[in-house]
Amino acid sequence: MTWVHAWRRSAVRRTGTKEALMQALRLMAWKSEPELVEVEDPLPADGQVVVRIGGAGACHSDLHLMHDFDAGLLPWGPPFTLGHENAGWVHALGPGVVGLEIGQPVAVYGPWGCGRCQRCRLGIETYCDNPLGAPVPGGGGGLGLDGGMAEFMLVPDARHLVPLPAGLDPVIAAPLTDAGLTPYHAVRRSWAKLPPGSTAVVIGVGGLGHLAVQILRATTAAQIIAVDNRPEALQLASECGADHTMAPGDTTAAAIRDATEGRGADVLLDFVGADDTLALGVAAARMLGDLTLVGIAGGSLPVSFFSVPYELSIQSTYWGSRPELIEVLDLGARGLLRPTITTVPLDQAVEGYRRMEAGTVEGRTVVIPGAPSAVH
Ligand code: NAD
Ligand code: ZN
Ligand code: ZN
Repeated sequence: MTWVHAWRRSAVRRTGTKEALMQALRLMAWKSEPELVEVEDPLPADGQVVVRIGGAGACHSDLHLMHDFDAGLLPWGPPFTLGHENAGWVHALGPGVVGLEIGQPVAVYGPWGCGRCQRCRLGIETYCDNPLGAPVPGGGGGLGLDGGMAEFMLVPDARHLVPLPAGLDPVIAAPLTDAGLTPYHAVRRSWAKLPPGSTAVVIGVGGLGHLAVQILRATTAAQIIAVDNRPEALQLASECGADHTMAPGDTTAAAIRDATEGRGADVLLDFVGADDTLALGVAAARMLGDLTLVGIAGGSLPVSFFSVPYELSIQSTYWGSRPELIEVLDLGARGLLRPTITTVPLDQAVEGYRRMEAGTVEGRTVVIPGAPSAVH
């Protein structure tokens, strides 16, 4: 924010008009990098809440949004403000909102469904049965609607806010809402296949994958094997609790079988989703196992009677449920889940995305919109 903007904001707020402006990192068009532009501060209507953002995580899915999509591929599109993993403090309440207080620290549950169907009422808004009744079908703040890479974010319904447990900093909570919640959901659905003596494999140890290793460590007794092509990521995996680390390659499936007395891994979580990582997952899987596709690199997997182990379940997963977010935040508050983060101010967010694309980020980059801008 420049001095002029700072002066204008404070002047506007003093006079009480509704024209305060803020900087926001917005995707303006498909196949482009986001831009820092000035937009009006949001105002909450009935049932809505404005959150002052403490942290907004930069997810690899945003890189997919910048590079892989084009008009018509999704039911929503630019322009919108990026940032779909957010936490901060309640800033303003719309008429009729009860149960929240100004200044209260909150995490934003990101997938926004219709709010009325059975799934939404259970808190599983990721799999809303009535997506046409949602604010945008299959999206949310930072995914078709304005997200958290701005000083303030409009949350269209108070039900999307989860109060932070005591002691959990919004900067830490922000990545937990996606980089934590998504692998938590993927691990949790496979808990029954992860008793002592079992093995879990994490492929891709970035923002999501390093937390997947920690979640496996905190909630199961499985042996953990991490696979990544970057040595720094494998180092991080070890620090997060992985028992073995491996680079992907022709011998990796055999190495996983060696580490499991020839049986193969019970649960494989693919946070890349390319042809070769899916092929590795199948080659290293145990009969009756789970292969869960989380990464959206766009790969595919041929399935035939003899090409996959018997009763291997293969599924994709999308994000997680609101009750699961409450559990993830509890793990965070108790120090059982500690995201490795690099913080940047809003005007360095684009650079943060470039670093993620170049593979030079460990863990997650978290944008702090209220932080002082870099000196130009
Ligand atoms: P990231 O960039 O932080 O991490 C990706 C990691 O994968 C990096 O460490 C990279 O070195 C590693 N990698 C890349 N290619 C590899 C390969 N061939 N073999 C082994 N490792 C490889 O990304 P992220 O933010 O953790 O997201 C991971 C993926 O999950 C992205 O595709 C993202 O869009 C997707 N995602 C999906 C959901 C969902 O709900 N399904 C939610 C969030 C993110
Ligand atoms: Zn994401
Ligand atoms: Zn619904």
